[in-house]
Amino acid sequence: MTYDDNNIFAKILRGEIPSENVYENDKVLVFMDIMPRSPGHLLVIPKSKCRNILDIDIEDLHAVIETVQMMAKIVLKALKADGVTIQQFNEAPGGQEVFHLHFHIIPRYSGERMGLPGKMVEDMSALKNQADKIRSLLK
Ligand code: 5GP
Repeated sequence: MTYDDNNIFAKILRGEIPSENVYENDKVLVFMDIMPRSPGHLLVIPKSKCRNILDIDIEDLHAVIETVQMMAKIVLKALKADGVTIQQFNEAPGGQEVFHLHFHIIPRYSGERMGLPGKMVEDMSALKNQADKIRSLLK
């Protein structure tokens, strides 16, 4: 399987399409999922070109997983969540839809079920507000 330079996350990394970014360093980018399964749903991606966990360089994977842990703690605090679900899918039979490695960080709230996948955010200003709260803890 080869890496497709035109996948949607490659375009986000190149700044060709808008995204609500909350954190980046030289190896990773973190941004809001546009179809959130709960308020504050984040995606963590490497800046290197890789389809998924099967082809990423191990040093880059270390950087990604370090950021997943950091952002999970930040989002819990920023949005007063009660728990967090981490998801990561590999190849289409494994549930992957965008073929640039990503980890989902899905904050969970007591008594609330996770929303269905594929549902576009309705209130963009609420999503921006959540991003502001997350970013404010990273300053
Ligand atoms: P997966 O490949 O893990 O099944 O899902 C891809 C994820 O990317 C989904 O949660 C979907 O909502 C998200 N996604 C797809 N297109 C975009 C986009 O253009 N912008 C953002 N921020 N997220 C996206």
